[in-house]
Amino acid sequence: AKERGKNNYQFYTLAMTERSLERMTIERGLRRALANNELRVHYQPQIDLASGLATCVEALVRWQHPEWGLVYPDRFIGVAEETGLIVPIGAWVLSTACKQVKSWHEHDGPFSAVAVNLSARQFLENNLYQTVKQTLVETGLNPSALELEITESAVMQDPENTLKVLQQLRELGVTLSIDDFGTGYSSLTYLRRFPVQSVKIDQTFVADISNDEGCRTLVSAIIALTHELKLNVIAEGVETEEQLAFLSKQRCDSLQGYIFSRPETSATLENEFKATQFK
Ligand code: C2E
Ligand code: CA
Ligand code: CA
Ligand code: CA
Repeated sequence: AKERGKNNYQFYTLAMTERSLERMTIERGLRRALANNELRVHYQPQIDLASGLATCVEALVRWQHPEWGLVYPDRFIGVAEETGLIVPIGAWVLSTACKQVKSWHEHDGPFSAVAVNLSARQFLENNLYQTVKQTLVETGLNPSALELEITESAVMQDPENTLKVLQQLRELGVTLSIDDFGTGYSSLTYLRRFPVQSVKIDQTFVADISNDEGCRTLVSAIIALTHELKLNVIAEGVETEEQLAFLSKQRCDSLQGYIFSRPETSATLENEFKATQFK
């Protein structure tokens, strides 16, 4: 038993060393990615159920690594947040997304608005408001074409400060949305206190619609509640006809998911979404 304990210990430290090596590799890689322009933004359409039209897309960052290929955010956002690199990365995504939509406005492109994800770390920096404001000025984008998505857990890290920044951002004329709704524990209180216009039902709930009665009840309740509060509600991660049917019957306002489109490059979407009606 003693021998085994020792082996486990060695295995454990080896695994830890591998993990911290991986993190260091990613951190160094991300710095280079920023300098060498290896980051990309993909866009995923959000479909308005009443019209069947997609006007807004969500911007999702990717890393085109010279050796590893296309790297998805789950592999590097955590490291970016811990190291603070999410601040320049987030600013780059914001600027890229705003330029893209501005260009769609000018060239009769398929979409007219974009939703950009923000991390808690960006709120803890003092100049998030200035960054957003300056990006809008530099790109000439109408603030109403920009939506900012924040998670409940990001809000919770420093509610008072976040509330203050959200109010400033709201005064700029951008739209604010709570992402991954239902996964935090303070949902209801914060919905009332925060100046948000929209709520995004987390994809884990959408995934369970077909096989979990309790989940269906929860999703219906979230939709009813957000409408009661005069907020817009969107469901993400919609993959099946059954989920689509349920969500549209419950009068969810918009849907996003593989059933309509995966996140794609702007060029791909421009080709595929010449006609943006989904009906
Ligand atoms: P999220 O904001 O909740 O984004 C939704 C994720 O679900 C995206 O993963 C999207 O590609 C994926 N998705 C969309 N439709 C479906 C579907 O029908 N089925 C399934 N199974 N998944 C679907 P992605 O692009 O890998 O991003 C993962 C997470 O990384 C995001 O979750 C977000 O938290 C973070 N992230 C992505 N881009 C950014 C960014 O620019 N800034 C920050 N701070 N975080 C980002
Ligand atoms: Ca999001
Ligand atoms: Ca989400
Ligand atoms: Ca998520």
